[in-house]
Amino acid sequence: MTPLQPGATVGIIGGGQLGRMSAIAAARLGFCSHIFTPEAGSPASQVSAATTVADYTDHGALTSFAAAVDVITFEFENLPAASLDLLASLKPVHPSPEILRISQDRVLEKNFLNDIGIPTAPWIPIHTADDLAQATLPGILKTTRLGYDGKGQVLVRSPAEAQAAFDALDPKPLILEGLVDFHSEISVIVARNEAGAIASFDPVENRHKNHILDLTLAPAPLPLEILAEATKLARHIAESLNLIGLLAVEMFVTSTGTLLVNEIAPRPHNSGHWTLDACPASQFEMHIRAVAGLPLPPAARHSDAVMKNLVGPGDMATWPAILATPGLIPHHYGKSEAREGRKMAHFIRLFPRGSLPGEFGIEAALKLTEKPDLA
Ligand code: AMP
Repeated sequence: MTPLQPGATVGIIGGGQLGRMSAIAAARLGFCSHIFTPEAGSPASQVSAATTVADYTDHGALTSFAAAVDVITFEFENLPAASLDLLASLKPVHPSPEILRISQDRVLEKNFLNDIGIPTAPWIPIHTADDLAQATLPGILKTTRLGYDGKGQVLVRSPAEAQAAFDALDPKPLILEGLVDFHSEISVIVARNEAGAIASFDPVENRHKNHILDLTLAPAPLPLEILAEATKLARHIAESLNLIGLLAVEMFVTSTGTLLVNEIAPRPHNSGHWTLDACPASQFEMHIRAVAGLPLPPAARHSDAVMKNLVGPGDMATWPAILATPGLIPHHYGKSEAREGRKMAHFIRLFPRGSLPGEFGIEAALKLTEKPDLA
């Protein structure tokens, strides 16, 4: 692909905060963004030159959208297969529809990972209640499609719990995963362009609250051998997928120090937001560079960082105090209503490289100024 020239238009499917921050990165590189979303006034369209507001199954709107852009990418993965095929018949789509299909379906995803030698939690497909009756418990029963932020999955310890979860989870089929005894959860974000150049950000640790990402620590406070192995696995996955674009790889570090890949997401990822302020080129810039056929700079980190998500009305009540606290770098997504469980904003705190504090220090670093006073 010849590199896109400034003035070209990047089409982004999905109007959320990942699209918003990708569009801002695209603008810095001289591109226009055109957002495709069912939602009027979306976070991404607020910062983009054009928006198509239409359903993801509206083939007429998808066709006009494709005609208006030079390349198509995603911030949202659950596009119906027929819509994906239509877009790909009209304009370059990066990452490829094939990669999206794999990431949309836990069975395809795990089969793909295991086939290329990537370790995952033990798992079996569950089509019927009978499949489950044979299975070893405890485990985590998950939908194969449309799960996110802990939705579409249930921890099951007994045959009765398994049966109840089987009845409740939708859509089917499901998979049952062995329960991983993990020390921590980490992720690695990798960019790869058409020329095969790869840039991977340092592995980070992710901590969740109510199944939603709460904190990211960059870099993950783990031995260097584990970090190197995590990077190796993520790069191997990106190469095996022939990725053009960005890929987030979520992994468990088990209590014995081995790595198991949990999920892959071929798009910018919440666990990469720290790169906005701690790296010369953020995950969003890497994403746009990769899909636009531009060279990839090294994914170097000039600072250590902690990223804190602000979710729902409770966290947003602290927004004025965050703005008044020196050292916290705020990023708001422009959503008008702070519903429970909705990601509204995040902030980042930087530390000199190599000085990410331990537990107590992290807590102290996130403390807000109680009496706002910047004067
Ligand atoms: P997922 O939707 O697969 O990303 O899972 C959401 C969260 O559930 C993960 O971040 C883990 O905290 C937990 N989880 C998922 N699968 C497992 C597993 N097999 N064993 C233990 N915890 C899990």
